[in-house]
Amino acid sequence: PVVTRFAPSPTGFLHIGNARTGLFSWLYARHHGGKALLRIEDTDKQRSTQEAIDVILDGLDWLGLDFDGETVFQSQRADRHAEVAMKLLEAGRAYKCFATTEELAEMREQQRANKQPMRYDGRWRDRDPSEAPEGAPFTVRIKSETSGETVIEDAVQGRVAVKNAEIDDFILLRADGTPTYMLAVVVDDMDMGCTHIIRGDDHLNNAFRQLQVIKAMQGVEDGWEEPVYAHVPLIHGNDGAKLSKRHGALGVDAYRDELGILPETLFNYLLRLGWGHGDKEEFTREEAIELFDLSGVNKGPSRFDMKKLLNMNGNYLRAADDGRLAALVAEKIGPEADVTILTEAMPVLKTRARDMNELADGAAFLFKKRPLEMTEKAAALLDDEARSHLAQISARLQAESDWTIEALEANLKAYAEELELGLGKLAQPLRAALTGQTTSPGIFDVLVLLGREESLARIDAQAA
Ligand code: GLU
Repeated sequence: PVVTRFAPSPTGFLHIGNARTGLFSWLYARHHGGKALLRIEDTDKQRSTQEAIDVILDGLDWLGLDFDGETVFQSQRADRHAEVAMKLLEAGRAYKCFATTEELAEMREQQRANKQPMRYDGRWRDRDPSEAPEGAPFTVRIKSETSGETVIEDAVQGRVAVKNAEIDDFILLRADGTPTYMLAVVVDDMDMGCTHIIRGDDHLNNAFRQLQVIKAMQGVEDGWEEPVYAHVPLIHGNDGAKLSKRHGALGVDAYRDELGILPETLFNYLLRLGWGHGDKEEFTREEAIELFDLSGVNKGPSRFDMKKLLNMNGNYLRAADDGRLAALVAEKIGPEADVTILTEAMPVLKTRARDMNELADGAAFLFKKRPLEMTEKAAALLDDEARSHLAQISARLQAESDWTIEALEANLKAYAEELELGLGKLAQPLRAALTGQTTSPGIFDVLVLLGREESLARIDAQAA
């Protein structure tokens, strides 16, 4: 059975690049009817606050990625990590290194001077620990293979090989007995029974080192099977450069709150970013689970396109249930909002908006209290001439018995013709009076959404 894991570090936000590998891991497990596990890599005590962890859990929940079983916290497993290091030590697959920090700095300095690759030279690999001073601190290092090569048949990258001579005897346990990241990741992956490691290709180099630990442990404990690796290329900006804040390297929460993106949009966008199935553009959750495979993951970096995301969001928004959108918009507007009114208005409101914030901005006029607060631009439209037009419009609309878009439009068009004015000349101050803004849904929609009484009261408040 397939077991995948998503292993984010709590850094204060769930970066969309990470969210995408989380999505891929989750989809792969779901596709195969396996388990999708979640591990929080919280070993950096400084950054790993509960708040930072909650941001990740919240973002995954919002995207609809429900992971299986208990969430594993890496920091709680330090004893087990140390145990593995000790077992490797006993089995002769790891060794104690007593080299001091100064000594290692000097070693690197010489390597630099000789233009040699800078890596630990194995000076304690074959030395007798009894040569070290009594009670001297030591690190535990893996005894890496020195000949041959380590090969990974990566499910995305294809065959990748590294000469074992290039893999150093890296540290497993620090002098204070704490495990290194390299050790912790691989022990956790194995203990969690992961069969597939799907993650960013910035971890490809780590895989070669992690495999050294797996191979060394194979003779020591059962259950250390090599997993299938799938290293997914990173996301770049649409100019090909590394993804920066400007390109959209934001947290999932910023997509939700600041950009007003719907979860189904981000789900589909992240899926399509670096994965494809023919030329199909939109996938429901069920279709994604049914069709996802690693062979569809692109080998090259994907380009993040904010415009495309926003357009896609507009499409999802128009397809979304009106009651659901109304509830979300009400939350953005505040306590004065009314979900029932919003639900009724939603078919009109959602025709223009591309994101939830635009939608909320376009709906806010419905709940404004008289006298309406005016934007500067709206106030500027209401000069003496405009106010006298509003007085005329008020009189005409009071006499209008049919409060429908068609009748209201015919009524105001007739008045504009009488005045030999374009309809826009009347509509602009009318919009300002009705909404306090210069942008809104169509003016006749606004009149109908507000209703006769409220519309006339708002017009009269500005008429002269
Ligand atoms: N915690 C690592 C990260 O957030 C991922 C480690 C892994 O997937 O092996 O980049």
